[in-house]
Amino acid sequence: MQPAPSSGRLVDRFGRVATDLRVSLTDRCNLRCSYCMPAEGLDWLPGEQVLTDDEVVRLVTIGVERLGIREVRFTGGEPLVRRGLVDIVARTHALGVETSLTTNALGLSRMAPALAAAGLDRVNVSLDSIRPESFAAITRRDRLHDVLDGLRAAQSAGLGPVKVNAVLLRGVNDDQAPELLRWAVEEGYQLRFIEQMPLDAQHGWSREAMVTADEIFERLSAEFTLAPAEEPRGSAPAELFTVDGGPATVGVIASVTRPFCGDCDRVRLTADGQIRNCLFAREESDLRAALRSGASDDELADRWVIAMAGKRAGHGIDDPTFLQPDRPMSAIGG
Ligand code: SAM
Ligand code: SF4
Repeated sequence: MQPAPSSGRLVDRFGRVATDLRVSLTDRCNLRCSYCMPAEGLDWLPGEQVLTDDEVVRLVTIGVERLGIREVRFTGGEPLVRRGLVDIVARTHALGVETSLTTNALGLSRMAPALAAAGLDRVNVSLDSIRPESFAAITRRDRLHDVLDGLRAAQSAGLGPVKVNAVLLRGVNDDQAPELLRWAVEEGYQLRFIEQMPLDAQHGWSREAMVTADEIFERLSAEFTLAPAEEPRGSAPAELFTVDGGPATVGVIASVTRPFCGDCDRVRLTADGQIRNCLFAREESDLRAALRSGASDDELADRWVIAMAGKRAGHGIDDPTFLQPDRPMSAIGG
């Protein structure tokens, strides 16, 4: 059964309410992380299919003003390569919501002050190794120093607490969890490990090769005393632990082995204007076509409400019928 349109909230049939909007600003990227995309890159979206800055801001405004969105996170692809980023952030900030950015930090050292001035609240930086050779092996680019510069600039610009997201790959960097944590604690970054998910463009993910949250916890526990942090987890996906009595914490995001779909409060807008109610959704709702054919804000909001109602209970990675979505993480917006 479909909900009454214009219900004013993005509710699904399990009663979950989406308030956290992830907006992908581009599917392009200047790194080539092996768990995300192939060395040669992907067939990027043609420019005319990508929402313009005004179109992005119009849809975000509908989400905030009519549908209860309270937090907007910009991502990609790599959002820092989007030319209108600072302006989009400023116009989103003016709507009175929390804004953040998930980025690989290439170019962040230059852009952090402008982003902070535009009202950006926080950044999450993806970094899987602090060893130059492992970084280059994973991302296929020798740019570790740029990421480290970007992190420092984000911290000085007040875009904190700066979070660092790391993915561990077996035989590549899975022995580096403790050194990443020691470094993050020293630098004052909040580190979170994320289990690798079947969202790579090459379809190379395998359950056996994936480094599990339990393994990560075990490797960290060999060198640190971890205790469950008191903050309630709520809809936040990370299980948080204090490190050696705190105040530093580390997060482990067990998206595959301990899914948190029951608490999910997210919805995604792709760079080409499709609403996805889940990272693993197999259907999308085309707001761009509606918008470009003259739909009113009410009509766009109604489409969005209907798109959310069909959200499935869980991602079903463990289900024998699981099918990886056609679009990879870089095109969906991680
Ligand atoms: N380029 C930006 C970045 O890397 O932060 C934003 C987009 S990227 C797709 C967002 C996040 O998704 C990154 O933290 C990245 O490590 C993560 N990611 C990409 N592919 C993944 C996968 N197959 N499993 C788990 N995380 C993945
Ligand atoms: Fe680019 Fe982010 Fe994918 Fe790495 S994870 S290739 S930085 S989109």
